[in-house]
Parts: sequence; C-alpha cells; structure tokens
Amino acid sequence: MRTLDQINFKDQRAVIRVDFNVPLNEKLEVTDPTRIQAAQPTIQHILAQGGSCVLISHLGRPKAKDPKLSLGNITNTVAEILGVPVSFSEHCVGSEAEALTAALPAGGVLLMENLRFHEEETKGDLTFAEQLSNLGTVYVNDAFGTAHRAHASTTIMAQFFEKKCFGKLLEKEVLAIEKVMSNGEAPILAILGGAKVSSKITIIESLLDKVDHLIIGGGMVYTFTKALGGKVGNSICEPDFCDYALELLDKAKQKGVEIHLPVDVVAGDAFSNDAEQEVFDVMEIPKGWEAMDAGPKSCEIFDELILKCKTILWNGPMGVFEFPNFAMGTIAVGESIGRATQKGAFSLVGGGDSVAAVKQFGLESKISYISTGGGAMLESLEGKTLPGISALD
Ligand code: AMP
Repeated sequence: MRTLDQINFKDQRAVIRVDFNVPLNEKLEVTDPTRIQAAQPTIQHILAQGGSCVLISHLGRPKAKDPKLSLGNITNTVAEILGVPVSFSEHCVGSEAEALTAALPAGGVLLMENLRFHEEETKGDLTFAEQLSNLGTVYVNDAFGTAHRAHASTTIMAQFFEKKCFGKLLEKEVLAIEKVMSNGEAPILAILGGAKVSSKITIIESLLDKVDHLIIGGGMVYTFTKALGGKVGNSICEPDFCDYALELLDKAKQKGVEIHLPVDVVAGDAFSNDAEQEVFDVMEIPKGWEAMDAGPKSCEIFDELILKCKTILWNGPMGVFEFPNFAMGTIAVGESIGRATQKGAFSLVGGGDSVAAVKQFGLESKISYISTGGGAMLESLEGKTLPGISALD
C-alpha cells in the first residue's frame, strides 16, 4: 500500500480525490460534516509538509451543471473545518482551472467545482481524466465512498501520475477491512442483518471463508426458518431462496462456521411502530404476526457469543430499527459489540443501515471502526478488489 508517508509533499501540489458528497438542507447548509472531517488528516499532513492541496469531489447526482449542487456552496464549511482559508474554482478542468492551481502557493487549498457537472467523470473518460491530472503533481485518493467506481477521478486519472498514494482515510478503511477479512484475531464473528437474503448472498459466501461464527438477523432470518420447516406468519420471507438457505447452512457446517439464528422474535400485528407486540419462538410465528426484531432470549445468547469474540464485523440491523418499539435487538447487539470492544476486541461496522443505527443510538465511541463507505464497504466484504484501490498499485 502506497501511503502518504512514502511521499515528501514539500513544494508538491497534491490533487486529492475527497468524498465531499455531504447532505445539504434547503438553505444549502451542510447538515452532516462527517465526510469533510474525515478528509482533514490527509489535508493537514500535506499542508504541514509544505505542500498545497487541490480538492476534487462530486456532490449529489447532477445530470448537468446545477447551482444547488455547486461545491461553492460548501467552501466556507470546508474552510471552517480545516481551519485554513480555502478558495474555490468554478471549473474543475480547463485552462482557468489549471491557471488557478498553478498559482496556488505552498500551504494553499483550492476546492474545485463538482466533478459530476461533466458526464465524462462517471463514464471514466480518459481525456477528462488526463485533464484532471494537469491539476497537480501528486495524486492522492482519499475517497473510500467512491473507491468501488471506475470513474475518471477515482480510478482512471491515477495512471497519469508517477507519484500517487492512499490518503489517510482510505488507508484506515482498507486496514480495517483487512483486519477482518485477512488477519483478524480468532474467534472472528460476522453479524449480518438487513432485509433480504437475496441482496447479501455474495457477502455471506465470501464471509464463510473468513469467520468462525455468523449471526444472521433482521428480515433474512425468516427465509432460513421457513426452509427449516418453521412458521413465519406475515414475516418478510423469500421462498425462492429457501433452497439456497439450506445449501448455505450445509456449506457453513462443512467449513466449520457456526451459524446463529435468533431463537425468539418480537412480532407486531401490523408493520407499524404502534402495532400490538408479542414475543414468539422463532419457529412458531402465528398467522397475522410479523417478526420485526430479535427477541430478549436471542439478545442474551448473542451477547454471550459477541463477548467471546475477538474480531467482530457488523453489517445490517437486527430488526426494523427505524420503529423505536422494534429497535431493541439492534441496540442490544450494538451495545454488546461496544462491551466486547472495551474488552479488547476489534469491531468494524460498515455498510448502510448499521452505520445509521450506530449513529442514531449513540454507539459511535464504542466501536473500533465505523466505515464511511456504504457500497465500497459491501463490495470489499464480497471479496472484490476495488478499482480505486488497485489503480494506486
Ligand atoms: P439492508 O439494506 O438489506 O441492510 O436492510 C436494512 C433494512 O432492513 C432496514 O430498513 C430495516 O428496517 C429492514 N429490516 C430489518 N429487519 C427486518 C424485518 N424483520 N422485517 C422487515 N424489514 C426488516
């Protein structure tokens, strides 16, 4: 892995692919600055060595130029967070953009306009990538959230640089994934939740070669229990995947991986936060009831297992955590992971809704690493090499 430490940035102009795809409110104010904060260590490192920084990013999914999605709207916020003056270029490629970057003094930071105002960006256009490469002397990729895309700025432009490296955020993300997928301390546990088995097949398959234990939670459970002859009531279930679920249980046995399903569930008589609630055995969910959370006994069993494990990966909630009355299982698992982490385990939470749950329930400080990249994280767990990462090799 080529890291920032292998390059001397003195008098170098670093083009840094950051992920400033932040949420904005109607007044075009940044409502969650996490992604800008996450890029800060890389930018500070380069400035401290006497280099300058040209920041390139996308914001939203514009089809063409759209003033609401201009990175000019967030320049002040970026400056506040970095604690240094940041200027803005209305173009991300072309002679004006190149002139501004060439005039950037050591210690200067210049934020370029939204890359996706040019359709060539997402097409991975070679000429556009070459134009982007004219903006600096070193290429740094610190945008884990887009590392699974072979876009001009995330992958293609790397080939035009002799000096290129991972940013600190990208490095941290890759190391965290490696800690689980390649060199985690045993026992290794993966906790997979979420809605559907069909959307997690590749991940489950790839994890079976890596872990000692696998907890299956959320809506995926009922495809397994139906396959095993259980009654699922109105619970979410994919009957077409029942055979697959049985095959998977078999495969796990052959590979020595213990699969853990909940033993009880909290069900509702409707898909609503205010539904009538009852706890049932996972195999005996009556008609008219929909399982929406892991039950108390399951949480106890999961807690005991989680506390025994040394490496823990969590992807996907244990239930419909968006309904506070059905969030207990997700909160309990998050807290168990927190306690295991305190005892010395390494914990990684990644991929969409589990990250949202961790933030919602204030568990961030209890987890070793929370991934910033949804899709990129999922593809890494599927065992894929991300194009943005291989482009730096
Ligand atoms: P995913 O994107 O596959 O990780 O799924 C996350 C979604 O799964 C969340 O919106 C949860 O509400 C949903 N989910 C989790 N458990 C259940 C369940 N038992 N029934 C229906 N949806 C669920």
